[in-house]
Amino acid sequence: MKIILDNGHGRETAGKCSPDGRLLEYAYTRELVRLIAAELESRGLDVSRLVPEQEDIPLKERVSRANKLYQESGKQAILISVHVNAAGQGGEWLSAKGWEAWTSIGKTKADDLASCLYEAAGAAGFKLRKDETDGDPDKEGHLYILKHTLCPAVLTENLFQDNREEVDFLLSDTGKKAIVDLHVAGIVHYLDSLT
Ligand SMILES: [Zn+2]
Repeated sequence: MKIILDNGHGRETAGKCSPDGRLLEYAYTRELVRLIAAELESRGLDVSRLVPEQEDIPLKERVSRANKLYQESGKQAILISVHVNAAGQGGEWLSAKGWEAWTSIGKTKADDLASCLYEAAGAAGFKLRKDETDGDPDKEGHLYILKHTLCPAVLTENLFQDNREEVDFLLSDTGKKAIVDLHVAGIVHYLDSLT
């Protein structure tokens, strides 16, 4: 099984950062994806990074890359797109917090992958969000990459970049390790469930 890892946005994407500018979503998710990939590869798993560039690669191009990898893998691939959530437009600290994941609509294998990731996030002690009552400016983008990729695809929103406490945690070594570990645990659990 090939594991395709996507990181959210690009250097020039406006607004995707903490109000104090310490956490930039494009840079942070790239760092996380590098760490997740290294950890999975150390376990002998086959990983591809969908967007190694720093730029924001348009969703259409990302989907076409993902679908090519899926076909080349003999239709044995899964995709996880790693993001950090925001309740507002990045200008002010807000109170929404927690961890959530999105899948494409309907019952697909992505639901099983998402369940494994939710379980790992719960075990890590994160507040789990299963609704969208706090608002979600990324939603359209979510739906696009999840809807148009052929492989099971899950998008993770790893806490909030406009929640001060969560930004402190995300930027700490403990926080980074917790987010990396939950992805690795969730993915490994899902792969184990297939055999
Ligand atoms: Zn995002």
